[in-house]
Amino acid sequence: MVGAAQASISCRRCGGTDIHWSSDLSEHDKATFAAKARENKIGSMKFARASFAMSLKDAKALALHVSDSGNRCHRCHGDIALGTSVCGQCNSANLNW
Ligand SMILES: [Zn+2]
Ligand SMILES: [Zn+2]
Repeated sequence: MVGAAQASISCRRCGGTDIHWSSDLSEHDKATFAAKARENKIGSMKFARASFAMSLKDAKALALHVSDSGNRCHRCHGDIALGTSVCGQCNSANLNW
């Protein structure tokens, strides 16, 4: 990899898919991305590609794992922790940014 260090989490629910993002992303960047993803997945993927220089594959994996609002798992809607976490009910990785 060229450039910044990567942070990642793997999603067991998706069969061990690795989700990557740059560890240079600020809390503000993450919150902005997550807000967009909760409104419009496609729009948030375009935003991640343009603003974070991500590949489409990585941007898609990121967008699909943003939690629902109110600290809810994007898949089963169970309660999840803040930040990057794994749902205790369905094992989905959640980006609760
Ligand atoms: Zn997943
Ligand atoms: Zn869940």
